[in-house]
Amino acid sequence: MDYFPIFLDLNAQPCLVVGGGEVALRKVSLLLQAGARVTVVAPTLCTALTERAGRGDIAHLARDWRDGDLAGQRLAIAATDNTEVNAAVHAAGEAAGVLVNAVDSPAHCRFIVPAIVDRSPLVLAISSGGNAPVLARQLRARIEAWLPHGYGVLARLAGTLRERVKARFADERARRRFWEIALDGPAAEKALAGDEAGATAALEVALAASDDSALARGAVYLVGAGPGNPDLLTFRALRLMQKADVVLYDNLVSPAIMELVRRDAERVYVGKKASNHALPQEEINQLLVRLAQEGKSVLRLKGGDPFIFGRGGEEIEELAAHGVDFEVVPGITSAAGASCYAGIPLTHRDYAQSVTFVTGHRRGDAIELDWARLTSDGETVVVYMGVAQAPRLCAELIAHGRAADTPAAVIEKATLPEQRTVIGTLATLPGLIEEAGIKPPALIIIGGVVTLHDKLGWRGPVAPATPRHTA
Ligand code: SAH
Repeated sequence: MDYFPIFLDLNAQPCLVVGGGEVALRKVSLLLQAGARVTVVAPTLCTALTERAGRGDIAHLARDWRDGDLAGQRLAIAATDNTEVNAAVHAAGEAAGVLVNAVDSPAHCRFIVPAIVDRSPLVLAISSGGNAPVLARQLRARIEAWLPHGYGVLARLAGTLRERVKARFADERARRRFWEIALDGPAAEKALAGDEAGATAALEVALAASDDSALARGAVYLVGAGPGNPDLLTFRALRLMQKADVVLYDNLVSPAIMELVRRDAERVYVGKKASNHALPQEEINQLLVRLAQEGKSVLRLKGGDPFIFGRGGEEIEELAAHGVDFEVVPGITSAAGASCYAGIPLTHRDYAQSVTFVTGHRRGDAIELDWARLTSDGETVVVYMGVAQAPRLCAELIAHGRAADTPAAVIEKATLPEQRTVIGTLATLPGLIEEAGIKPPALIIIGGVVTLHDKLGWRGPVAPATPRHTA
């Protein structure tokens, strides 16, 4: 971060603007909106500033800038078209410890002024750190269009209730939960619809109805985070990620996704790699129960979908046994992610009428699978956790009767920018995996559908044109 973002309370504070033209006028207007006591130093003023001086909104010193003008000022804006004067104001500010901004001259700024979206008391400030002010302004335009004016009303109403809510809920977490619920419910709908009286009444109802013990009760959200690309999160997942007190995650949850978790949420890594459990499953189950019983909103983030090879079932069994509230949020399972991002449909009228998800993970010494049902030609088989066991898995399938030239693919880090896809057959895939150095997480897809990758693969290098398949 190149600049530290803050909001200044300038109410009744002396601020100096050097310059009397149009640029100075814009800065003066902004400072006046914030309640500052503005003095303008400039030999002459533009018409609008002259009017304001006439009305007594600003004080005017009708002369050139002088060293010493910053005495007693909180901050100053140099808005002349003379770079030397702007530089001098900046130098004086540095010497006197007064914050100075010289318009359009980043080298002479101790602070910069962001693009703002004003829904007072809600204010959004956007800055590109001086790199691309136009980009910041474009972003502001989008947010302006998207952010209803009612949000300002809602923020103001919440402000009027703040002290009472604080007195009512001693527990900070209960208080936060009250606000989360109240600001998301009927009060918000009414405020956004412009019904201020209705919104006030709804907030009062929420406050009267809230049950402290219910608000202080914890819950566990078992949430599927999808295959890794943050664009593939669900809205529900994102909302829960942004209100969690504590997050338990493992290595399938990408850093880009963790970035979206509420900043001050506690993060607990409970990573699992095949046969190298960072935290035994039993302990994860107990930790979830304990955190929820402490009244926390606990987010259990899992790669893909929590109920597909995710042991999500085991985790909530324990929660249910202890009477802890929980919710399960589906995620895009990696088979779906890999299939779409590798251009390999899992079913297709010409190639596959069914698909089976299996795990290549061993229990003891054997891969326990119902081989007979995996060997039919019209069956797509997707293997989770199968990279290490690929040689054994492919050999078993062939031994049980699936043709050795059955197309097979491995997709590593599906949906992420570094995704790799390797295509072969049951006979060749293990060698290709070894050669390419494919590492987990990776999925194996087996079946005639794999040939479609040639035509439908849309990521990475485009495959050479092959004759279109005719059904
Ligand atoms: N619940 C998860 C699966 C957990 S098991 C889901 O629904 O996807 C872990 C296995 O998932 C990995 O060994 C790998 O086979 C697969 N996997 C998860 N994310 C993946 C990704 N981005 N690309 C390829 N395979 C992935």
